[in-house]
Amino acid sequence: MAPRRFKSCLSENLLTILTILGVVGGTVLGFILRNVREDGWSAREIMYIQFTGDLYLRMLKALILPLIVSSIVSAIGSLDLSLSGKIGARSIYYYSTTTVCAVILGIVLVLVIRPGEIGTPSEITEGNNTATRYVLTEDTMLDLIRNLFPPNLIQACTGQYRTVLIPPEGFVPDPNATMPDDIGSWEISSKYGDGTNTLGLVIFGIVMGITLAKMGDLGKPLLDFFNALSEAMMIITNWVVWLSPIGVMFLVASKLLEIKDLSAILGQMGVYFMVVLLGLFLHGFGTLSIIYYVCTRELPFKAIAQMGQVLVTAFGTASSSATLPITLQCLDRMGLDPRITRFVVPIGATINMDGTALYEAVAAIFISQVRGLKLSIVNVIAISVTATAASIGAAGIPQAGLVTMVMVLDTVGLPSKDVILIIAVDWLLDRFRTTINVMCDALGACIIEKMSKGELAAADQLEENVELTHLRKAEA
Ligand code: ASP
Repeated sequence: MAPRRFKSCLSENLLTILTILGVVGGTVLGFILRNVREDGWSAREIMYIQFTGDLYLRMLKALILPLIVSSIVSAIGSLDLSLSGKIGARSIYYYSTTTVCAVILGIVLVLVIRPGEIGTPSEITEGNNTATRYVLTEDTMLDLIRNLFPPNLIQACTGQYRTVLIPPEGFVPDPNATMPDDIGSWEISSKYGDGTNTLGLVIFGIVMGITLAKMGDLGKPLLDFFNALSEAMMIITNWVVWLSPIGVMFLVASKLLEIKDLSAILGQMGVYFMVVLLGLFLHGFGTLSIIYYVCTRELPFKAIAQMGQVLVTAFGTASSSATLPITLQCLDRMGLDPRITRFVVPIGATINMDGTALYEAVAAIFISQVRGLKLSIVNVIAISVTATAASIGAAGIPQAGLVTMVMVLDTVGLPSKDVILIIAVDWLLDRFRTTINVMCDALGACIIEKMSKGELAAADQLEENVELTHLRKAEA
C-alpha cells in the first residue's frame, strides 16, 4: 500500500519535483562552472548558457498578454455584475490589507534590527549600472495614473508612458546623482518606454468584461471569443510548463555566473539580506497564514504545498508576470473556480506585490541608516506610502523593484545612485520576493473563492433555472 501511495504522490508531483531539481541542478552547475574558470566567463559564454532558459522565458512571456486580457474579460463577463463587484471589492481589501501589513512588518524589522548601523559598510562590488533618471516623485506617480488609461491599446502592448524632464543647456550631471534644485522648471517631455503597460490592459479588460456582462446575449459572441482565447492559452501553458525544470536550471546557473562577487551576502549587506528574508518569511508564513485562517477557518499549508510548482517557477524566473500562466494552471489543478482565479490572479500579478513593498521599505530605511540619516516619523510614513505605490507601479519582471526604489529614496532626499548599496544582493532577494508576491496572489484566489462559494453556487443555480425556463418555453 505504502509504495503505491508513494508512487501516486510521485506522479502527481513529478513536475514540481523535477523543477525543484532544476533549481538545485542549476545552483550546482553554476558553482561548478564558476570554479572551473578562475578568470570568470565572458558575457558571450554566459549568454550561451542562458540561451535555453531564455527560450523558456520567452515562451512564458508570449502567453502573458493574451492570457491577462482574455482571463479578466471572460471572468468578469461571465459573472453577474453585483457578484463581480463583490469579488472585486474582496480582492481590493485583500491586496491592500496584505500590502500594508508587509510594509509595516518590514519597517518594524529594519527599525528594530538596524542593519545599516551594524559593522562597516560593505564594499560596493557590483558595477555602478544605475543610470540616473531625473524625474520628480510626483511625475512617477502621475505616470502610474496615466498608464491606467492607455490612449492606444496596441501601443499599450509594447510600451509605457514615461515623463522625461529635459535639462537646460549646459547642465552637468551631479556625480552624486542628487536632484538638481531647479528640476521643477525643466522642460517636460515624454516617451513610451520598453515593457508592456500591463496596468492599462488590466483596466481595459475590467471595463470590457463589465460591458459584456451588461450586454447579455448581444455580447455573447465576443465573450465566447475571450473564453476560447483564455482556454487556448491555458492549453499552451500546459505544454510550456513541462519545460520548467530545464528552463529554470539554465536561468539559475547563468545568473550565478553573471554575479561578480557572491561574498557580498556576508557582512553588513548580509544583515540587510537576512532582514528582508526574515520579513518575507514572516509575511508569507505568518501574516498570510493568519489572514487565510481568519477568512476561511483553515490553515493554508496544504494549499501552499500544492502550489510548489508555482513557487519554484517564481524563484527560478524572478518574474511574477512570467509565472502567471503557471499560477493559473496550478490553481485550475487544485480545483478552484476559474471565474475567481481568472479575475483575482492576473490583477494581483500586476498590482499586488507584497514582497516588493516589504523590500522597498526595508531597503530605503537601510540606506538611510548607512548614510547616517535620522528619519522622523513623517519620513517613515512617507517611505511606507511610496513603498506601497512603488510596489503597485513595479512591473512583474526581474529587479523591477530596484528601479522603482529610486522614487522611495527620493522621498527622504537620498540620491538615486545609492541603490548601488543594495545592488550586489538584489538578484537573489528578487527571487525570494517574487516567490512571496506570487504566493500572496495564489492564496488570495483561494481565500476569495472560499468566501464567494455560496454566491457562485447561487449564481449557477439561477443560470440553470433561466436555461430551464427557456427550454420549457421553447418546448411549449
Ligand atoms: N521581480 C519581482 C516580480 O516580478 C518584482 C520586483 O520586486 O523586482 O514580482
